[in-house]
Amino acid sequence: MKKMLVIGSLSIGLIPVLIVCCVVFVLLMVAVIVGGNNENAFPSGSFSTDMSVIAENEIPAEFIPFYQEAGEKYGIHWLLLASIHRQETNFSQNKTVSSAGAIGAMQFMDCTFVGWSYPTCNGLGNGGIPKDILMSPAQISKYGGYGVDGNGDGKADPWNEEDAIHSAAKYLSANMKGSTEIDKIQAAIFAYNHSSQYVNEVYDRFIGYTDGWEEFDGSVATTIRNGKAWPVPYTKQITSHFGPRWGREHKGIDIAVNGVEGQPIVAFTEGVITRSEYNLIYSDGKEVGWGWYVRINHGDGLETLYAHMNKQGVPVGKKVKTGEVIGYVGSTGGSTGPHLHLEFWINGVQKNPIPYVQDLLN
Ligand SMILES: [Zn+2]
Repeated sequence: MKKMLVIGSLSIGLIPVLIVCCVVFVLLMVAVIVGGNNENAFPSGSFSTDMSVIAENEIPAEFIPFYQEAGEKYGIHWLLLASIHRQETNFSQNKTVSSAGAIGAMQFMDCTFVGWSYPTCNGLGNGGIPKDILMSPAQISKYGGYGVDGNGDGKADPWNEEDAIHSAAKYLSANMKGSTEIDKIQAAIFAYNHSSQYVNEVYDRFIGYTDGWEEFDGSVATTIRNGKAWPVPYTKQITSHFGPRWGREHKGIDIAVNGVEGQPIVAFTEGVITRSEYNLIYSDGKEVGWGWYVRINHGDGLETLYAHMNKQGVPVGKKVKTGEVIGYVGSTGGSTGPHLHLEFWINGVQKNPIPYVQDLLN
């Protein structure tokens, strides 16, 4: 009894020491992270959607359309779906029920598949849900689960690869949390199986499957004169000018041609990125905003803005050089086809860009 008390008071005495140790450790980690966070440390870019040689050798061709279709639909890198399929059931070669009760090609807990509001759901999520309810899209919708009828046969079947892969994509998509693509992918993997070892294994496999990281700041050949660069190296075709258009003012110029989608957009001149975000605006139920756009402050009252990019461009705070890649042409926001909508802001007001780019057009 006495011994217990001594041990008890020792433990309590240790708590402040442990807290101090933890605080010191956290501060050291913050110092490491902040110290390493220089301008070049931010991984500006995204994972290539091309397959590595490893992926070509390992991933069964029959499943590739399912990953790609589900990935597209839910905004998930398709090779992440392949990595999880490999991890969970070795590409469906082992679809037996796991010790925890996970089922099917992508090893869902039935409560996650049908929805946690199902009456028997608790604990790890093995609700012993009968098959007729498990596979019913109406029941899944009622209980708020992630099961999806991917192949359109009226059933959401966790043992069917197309259904299971769509369901996994939906679940991962709901758990993509964080500010960078890497953070989001790791958060989604963690949500799939709450263990850091699992995250490491799946993430490593995913890295091995993609054909690498595509940097934004690669240089591309474009017309550069007097420290000014034509922003779309791929084309000089202007499809819409500054001024009144469709009953409203067009505050920039549009640059487009067949095949321009996904082509690089480069900085007009050197500056600092002040905006890199999605501009979401609706008017009469239609999206009319810039979509993914980047705004650069060049100093001396000059700013340029690049709209409708296919995905997020280089991050805020990054210094860019003349002609440096800042993003890629897309059709996000209020856009009817891939093009760059380019604006020139002079002392906070949009002006016709043509006088500024005229000598680059020849
Ligand atoms: Zn425009």
